[in-house]
Amino acid sequence: MTSASAAPTHPPVSDLRDRLARAASHAADRGVDALLVTPGPDLRYLTGYDAIPLERLTCLVLPATGDPVLVAPGLEKAAALASPVGELGLEVATWGEIDDPYALVASMVRTGSVVGLDNHMWAEKVLALAAAMPEVRQTLAGEVLRELRMRKSPDEVAALLRAGEAIDRVHAQVPEWLRAGRTEREVGQDIADAILAAGHVRVDFVIVGSGPNGASPHHELSDRVIQPGDPVVVDIGGTMPDGYCSDETRTYSVGEPPADFLAYYSALEAAQAAAVAHVRPGVTCESVDAVARDALTRAGYGERFIHRTGHGIGLETHEEPYIVAGNTLPMEEGFAFSVEPGVYLEGRHGARIEDIVVCGPDGPVLMNQRPRGLVVV
Ligand code: ZN
Ligand code: ZN
Repeated sequence: MTSASAAPTHPPVSDLRDRLARAASHAADRGVDALLVTPGPDLRYLTGYDAIPLERLTCLVLPATGDPVLVAPGLEKAAALASPVGELGLEVATWGEIDDPYALVASMVRTGSVVGLDNHMWAEKVLALAAAMPEVRQTLAGEVLRELRMRKSPDEVAALLRAGEAIDRVHAQVPEWLRAGRTEREVGQDIADAILAAGHVRVDFVIVGSGPNGASPHHELSDRVIQPGDPVVVDIGGTMPDGYCSDETRTYSVGEPPADFLAYYSALEAAQAAAVAHVRPGVTCESVDAVARDALTRAGYGERFIHRTGHGIGLETHEEPYIVAGNTLPMEEGFAFSVEPGVYLEGRHGARIEDIVVCGPDGPVLMNQRPRGLVVV
């Protein structure tokens, strides 16, 4: 078993410097004068600083031209400098307990300019920044940062592969825990423990949808007792020490499943495989969705596939690009996303097969390797 802890927890400082420069340049191209980024995945992506979002303002001010500054509470300065922020040589402007941090940020932004706010910034901070800078127009930093974050570097793909291998190891153990007579919650606890044991630092979600609960795509855990013959949808994921996420679904059956389940499971397996095989640079995101949906429609289950085919993944489990009708964005090398069609028969059972896929130069590169056929336990 490989040790996930051997992987670096943040990218090389040279990569971070490059990301900051590219973010500034994309901001300039879009007429955004500065990006304001609070703790969360964008801040981690740009600086390697995995700060906890708190009521006190920490905010990276990244101007389109000029040097970035990290505004931080005085008591967080040591933590900030212990992160790659120190090695990057970023200026850290601290504020004391009775200072106004919003006025400090405003002093760094020109009147009449446009600022791009971190998409996940807390509303109280958005409004306080607006009040401190009445002549400044606010827009979303995501419009700029998505251009960077969607295209994974080889190091990021390696991180997603480590996450994929870790969650594969958990799925490999699921047959040991899935038994008639146990509750979903009991099985879910075993899975959560294994997600951490496999090298993740956080359990993000554990879905064990047995029997009729499998027909609800985001059912998590309940006290339902698993019955003989139940199909069980197991969709699990966590976050690795470097911040990259795993997300993988397999469907199991506790004993022989009902005939109507077997009828759609093979159609689902074929639809998922066809959608994965379709991935290559130049095809649109929506065409990957269409391949899965058309295959299930031809098999008579189109109406039972009630969600989009997938979502981007990286430092967040759900990020751009979304694999959904209407997204005409052409795929590029380095796009990373899930391919997870499902079939849901309300009140009876459901199935989903999900892999994380990276768009490679010639086609799909799979981050998950567990067999996709129905596992009867
Ligand atoms: Zn999932
Ligand atoms: Zn997913």
